[in-house]
Amino acid sequence: MLYRVIDRDDLPSLVAAFMERYEVIAPVKRGAGYVFSPVGSFDEICIDYPSTIASPKKYLLPPTETLFEFDAVENAVTDYTEEVRPRVLFGVHACDINGLMNLGSVFADPRYPDPYFQAHRGATLIVGVGCMPSEHCFCNLMDSEEARPGYDLFLTAIGERYLVSIGSVVGANILEGACDVREATDGDRIAFRAATRARQEAFNPAIPDIQEIPMLMDAFHEDAFWGELGERCLSCNACASVCPTCYCFDIRDTLDPGGVSGRRERVWDACTSPQFAMVAGGHNFRPTATERVRHRMYHKLNGFLATHDRSLCVGCGRCAAACKVDISPIEVLRFFERKGADDAC
Ligand code: SF4
Ligand code: SF4
Repeated sequence: MLYRVIDRDDLPSLVAAFMERYEVIAPVKRGAGYVFSPVGSFDEICIDYPSTIASPKKYLLPPTETLFEFDAVENAVTDYTEEVRPRVLFGVHACDINGLMNLGSVFADPRYPDPYFQAHRGATLIVGVGCMPSEHCFCNLMDSEEARPGYDLFLTAIGERYLVSIGSVVGANILEGACDVREATDGDRIAFRAATRARQEAFNPAIPDIQEIPMLMDAFHEDAFWGELGERCLSCNACASVCPTCYCFDIRDTLDPGGVSGRRERVWDACTSPQFAMVAGGHNFRPTATERVRHRMYHKLNGFLATHDRSLCVGCGRCAAACKVDISPIEVLRFFERKGADDAC
């Protein structure tokens, strides 16, 4: 990995250089929170944001995406009717970069490569930025505190400078052309170490660090705890909407008024939805909220790990902030902590 240093004052030039060739998506203030949104200048960007309400996932996996259009009279199908824009996702935190990597490992699976996701991903540069954890963050427990691959540039603030990790030739060239770039000194490296340590020490100590989560998930699969969560769950799907790694979708065909042409669309779905597991004939193989919440938590903390060697949850904490009834992986970690305390008695 190559490292360079730029001044904080260089950031507007860097963003302007990206804007010459790309649409820039970055964190901006919206009401009481922050969202990823297209920006027209650096001044709109809140680079030191705590977290955004939703992740930047929608720029690679849109909530509704036309996959193809069809015409029964012409017997024709037209692919890729959606525009694929060259974009830069600017100011993405490490947890979200890891979330996008997880999506990539699903949609780039060689057995079922998804050309739509891959087209968006191939047209997108990612510029990460280091952050300080907020109340709900637990990326440190999900091995997502750092983004190793998955970005073109990654900026870590060290005082009035940024240590820039360079992840691609494209990113390096734009950085070199736009900023007064210099080699990192020993002083920069020491400042980077101090910044990393300060970040590690800032995680909420009330979120328990539980080891062997998959084994505990298997051991407590039938525990009454899941019923308690199920009784509280409102089936609102807010958790899935904000999550950087929820990728379930539905497919729907929409006919034009004449009934001979139309389009096939992919739309976000959520396993917390009561209809999600409804199949032909009216059978629902996950009919209760208890089964649905439990399934979501198992996929996040157990099932994905078995097939992809890492947890699907990246510990961004958004679902903990979004859920009105306090259901999140943090509650699962606390449950395991209580079980450990019970066993010790
Ligand atoms: S877990 Fe919370 S956010 Fe998710 S569907 Fe249930 S009530 Fe809504
Ligand atoms: S499950 Fe919750 S904490 Fe984990 S990645 Fe999704 S939104 Fe973030």
